[in-house]
Amino acid sequence: MTTTWTQAARTIPRPTQAVIDGVGVEALTDRSFDSIGPRDGEVVATLPACDERDVDRAVAAARAAFADGRWRDRAPAERKAVLHRFADLVDAHRDELALLETLDTGKPIGDTTAVDAPGAATTLRWYAEAADKVYGEVAPTGPGALATITREPMGVVAAIVPWNYPMIITAWKIGPALATGNSVIVKPAEQSPMATLRLAELASQAGLPPGVLNVLPGEGATGAALAAHGDVDKVTFTGSTATGRKVLEAAAASNLKSVSLELGGKSPQVVFADAPDLDAVAEAVAWGIFYNQGQTCHAGSRLVVEDAVADELVGRIAEVARGLTAGDPLDEATQLGALVSREQLERVVGYIDLAGQEGATVVLGGGRSEPVEGGCYLEPTILDHVRADARIATEEIFGPVLVVQRFDGTQDAALHLANGTDYGLAGAVWSADHARAERVAARLRAGSVYVNCFDLGDVTVPHGGFGASGFGGRDKSLHALDQYTELKTTWRSL
Ligand code: NDP
Repeated sequence: MTTTWTQAARTIPRPTQAVIDGVGVEALTDRSFDSIGPRDGEVVATLPACDERDVDRAVAAARAAFADGRWRDRAPAERKAVLHRFADLVDAHRDELALLETLDTGKPIGDTTAVDAPGAATTLRWYAEAADKVYGEVAPTGPGALATITREPMGVVAAIVPWNYPMIITAWKIGPALATGNSVIVKPAEQSPMATLRLAELASQAGLPPGVLNVLPGEGATGAALAAHGDVDKVTFTGSTATGRKVLEAAAASNLKSVSLELGGKSPQVVFADAPDLDAVAEAVAWGIFYNQGQTCHAGSRLVVEDAVADELVGRIAEVARGLTAGDPLDEATQLGALVSREQLERVVGYIDLAGQEGATVVLGGGRSEPVEGGCYLEPTILDHVRADARIATEEIFGPVLVVQRFDGTQDAALHLANGTDYGLAGAVWSADHARAERVAARLRAGSVYVNCFDLGDVTVPHGGFGASGFGGRDKSLHALDQYTELKTTWRSL
């Protein structure tokens, strides 16, 4: 099957233009950048690095679309029908979108066909359904007045998206933003623009009016120009904490636009010695960190394990990891593909190199591999005996690297380690003692907590975190609608 996908990769059309006002256009910038495929280090596309003039043009198109009401004033049921057609087209183009995503990011084709492309369609469909179910409220004021509370779209929304789940995160943002009548400009990460550009073409084909969804390929400067723009009403951002801070500063220094930030994590899986089934725990811990090559914001990147079962559990996790099929992302059998870029690979290797200096032991992996020459591959890695204050225990590594921290069996010791980072995106507790599991779950400082399981996911539940993991609203679920709407109170004197 690798041959089929490799052949398809040779001939697949690769988007090379920005999408502004409903059509692919040449950017005004004279600068371009290469999107390098991490599978083999080859250039997969050369795209314009959209500059301030392109940002101005896209914002103007989005503003015009919002101002004349061509989308926001359509009956919610009509917006719903368009978004359903959009979701159907995403499904119909599943293989094409999945291949573009794999070429850009190095994710296994088995994942992009089974998870990323269908996940984007499911999300769009869910928000299509939500479009005509957003009700207002009547406030319980006294009899002399009638006050209604309604939701209005914010206006022009900039969605700045990272490279780890380009299509899915784009759908998490454009689904609720479009369902509620906003105009959107997406800035994909420079590593992964292709599938997003194709999504915008499909949206136009589905009947989304011009200007309502624009996509600007570019580098960090493109995102910075959007965050600083005086006519953007909202920035929704997913990425690193450092860049999130810059977005917030730019918003404060410009027009005080609304900002939502989702900034990653260092999520713990706490395992007590009485965990019901150590094999199930080992599977969940291994997949929780190694899926997507560890480049997942809510990855279970820390194992916080009771001493009594630590050796046994680490051994079983290593067994699961050894059984994963690492290889060419274009091979359907591959479970572990490439990291997104040479830069990310070096960053992750840098953390592994730190392990020795910080007193930790490499118990599995730690080395590069090269199933495809020139690609960015790393073995699944386990670092044991990691100190609570080590950088590898507190900073987001964002690669296939599990950090193991051991505790003496007391609940307080477990929680001290588990809550010992600035992040608070996800966390899990494993114990047969349900009362204890509930107590620990209640005290884990995280936006999503799992009890005797990990990484269950559904568009119906909110995604976001506490502390350095971000703020300003949630992606997914009906709560995401809050990110893209303003509440308006209207009084009438009776
Ligand atoms: P960034 O946070 O820099 O990138 C995320 C998005 O922000 C990209 O679209 C990027 O564009 C854009 N961007 C970059 N600079 C600015 C700016 N000044 N203003 C507005 N937008 C900007 O992440 P990196 O790609 O540099 O990854 C570094 C680390 O971040 C990873 O190792 C990981 O730890 C973390 N990360 C976390 C993610 C999460 O899901 N929470 C996702 C990705 C990374 P461009 O790509 O063109 O620079």
